[in-house]
Amino acid sequence: MNKRTRCAERIHQKIYLLKCPICGKSLRVVEQKSLICAQKHTFDLAKQGYVNLSTKQVHTHYGKTLFEARRKIIVDHGFFNPLIHILSEQIGKQLNLPTDISILDLGCGEGSHLAKICQMLIHDASRSVTGCGIDIAKEGIQLASKYYPEQIWLVGDLAQPPFKERQFNLILNILSPSNYQTFDQMVKPGGYVIKVIPGSGYLKELRSSIYEHDKAQYSNADTRTLFTEHFPDTITQNIHYVAHLNREGIRDLIRMTPLAWNVSEEKRTQWLEKESADITCEFELLIGKG
Ligand SMILES: [Zn+2]
Repeated sequence: MNKRTRCAERIHQKIYLLKCPICGKSLRVVEQKSLICAQKHTFDLAKQGYVNLSTKQVHTHYGKTLFEARRKIIVDHGFFNPLIHILSEQIGKQLNLPTDISILDLGCGEGSHLAKICQMLIHDASRSVTGCGIDIAKEGIQLASKYYPEQIWLVGDLAQPPFKERQFNLILNILSPSNYQTFDQMVKPGGYVIKVIPGSGYLKELRSSIYEHDKAQYSNADTRTLFTEHFPDTITQNIHYVAHLNREGIRDLIRMTPLAWNVSEEKRTQWLEKESADITCEFELLIGKG
């Protein structure tokens, strides 16, 4: 079965989650190659196994090179493993979720976080897990569909996502901008929204070598305040570890981090010549109830 056919079947089973991003009507899969609504708005399934449901062409800074580097950082170098492990533990053991759960990752990038979380949840218990990832960057979704055919991958606008309202038990928003209106519209009553934000020490080695002192400090206070105002019963958890990267890992980190985009050539070379580096990882999990 080719990737497009497989994607068509997966979407057909979960078609009740989706709506036409133009008119809001239900979609159906036609001939295993398109999604079409009652008003004949049509969206073709890409041969790689995803659907582009965005209504406008968007160009982002996030190109193929960045997503390939991010994938390597996650999959090959295990940079985020402790974070994803704790996140999966929280979801699997602490949250009151049914055995049949649907997860939406808003701003999923190249999809590795969502795919790993789904794998861990299925592995740990007799659960049925539906994972949907959406991102505005087509280059990210193309990589996601290439490596993770078990999930549903969509290119789409995070402010007007092509999903029916209140269908997801869990919304994930990992190191990605928030849209609170979308959180509210997407999460099922009694479901959860989990946002991961960087802690003040995240990448501090990189930050302090790149910036002068005043910019070297990062604060997540505004983001946290906004989240806790929106979800008054927010549970927070701090995560701290040090990731050891080899030379190749440093190169991929530099490629994927927006922080490093404005670095001088001299500083970049200094980093790229290191044989290895210990990098501080600090995150905060914010868990809100829908
Ligand atoms: Zn339509």
